[in-house]
Amino acid sequence: MAAISLIQTTHEHNPPTHHAPFPPCKKIVTIWDKSIGQRTETAQPAKLVATCIKHMLLTENFSVEVLKQFPVNTPPDHQMDCCIYHPGERFKNNACWDSLEQAVIYGEVDDPDLIPDAFIRSLTTAAHEFGHAFLQYHSREGLVRHSQSGAIDESFADIFAIMVKHFQKGIVRIDDFTDWRIAAGIYKNDPEKPLRDLSSPVIYHANIYDHRDVDGTIYNNSGIPSRAFVMAAHTIGQPIWKVIGPIWVAAIGKVESNETLADFAQKTIQEAERLFDEAIAKAISDAWDVVGITPGVETIEKTNDI
Ligand SMILES: [Zn+2]
Repeated sequence: MAAISLIQTTHEHNPPTHHAPFPPCKKIVTIWDKSIGQRTETAQPAKLVATCIKHMLLTENFSVEVLKQFPVNTPPDHQMDCCIYHPGERFKNNACWDSLEQAVIYGEVDDPDLIPDAFIRSLTTAAHEFGHAFLQYHSREGLVRHSQSGAIDESFADIFAIMVKHFQKGIVRIDDFTDWRIAAGIYKNDPEKPLRDLSSPVIYHANIYDHRDVDGTIYNNSGIPSRAFVMAAHTIGQPIWKVIGPIWVAAIGKVESNETLADFAQKTIQEAERLFDEAIAKAISDAWDVVGITPGVETIEKTNDI
């Protein structure tokens, strides 16, 4: 199978934010017009355009109704849109949140293993990219796109996406059959196979920290905090958007640009105590323990030969 690019943001480092409000979706979709060499608004919403808008609206609705994170008024220049079929190798077989263009961008798909328009059709792909946008606006400083902070960034985008999915599908039971898949249904020959599965770090992620810090390691390492989230969700047993999700969101709001996993773990426990109770905080603390992170203490080994 050809190597599939992973979902990523365009820029190495989300620009510093000013605790700006997360902007509402602009609800337009631009498309690359080859005849004029630039993006234009589409005249007649075709099916894919309608799908983009639907995913934007579902994600926005989740943020407004569940996370209560959208303000009513935002400046008009702080609006997001979607661009589909962006040309160039950079975006090919991929999607990204472009923090400068304020847009979710979908590249062309020409990988024979992927269904046509695979990422546009995937709600969790759109929600993952908007998760990066959410983090950019909600966090204190944004997160540097490498090492542990990069892993937290990718993990949070996946967690944001899975919250949108669970909320949209009404998934309230957390058990061995709970769906934790990101971008399922993008592969032609295996409709159940996802790009990532937050409950299966051994298959889709690293389960111990990879220090090489080259392209792709932040995606592998994102499995560590994502696994802690899933395990704590199992112990807590509530719909993820009601308890553990808001805890993660609150902790993300306090990260520093070079946040370590240990410091982030400590913030999730502190927010659990602040928002809920000691039992919830212990469930989260125990989950971090299982994935090898001691909250507040840098314990990750400095050598690793994955
Ligand atoms: Zn990403």
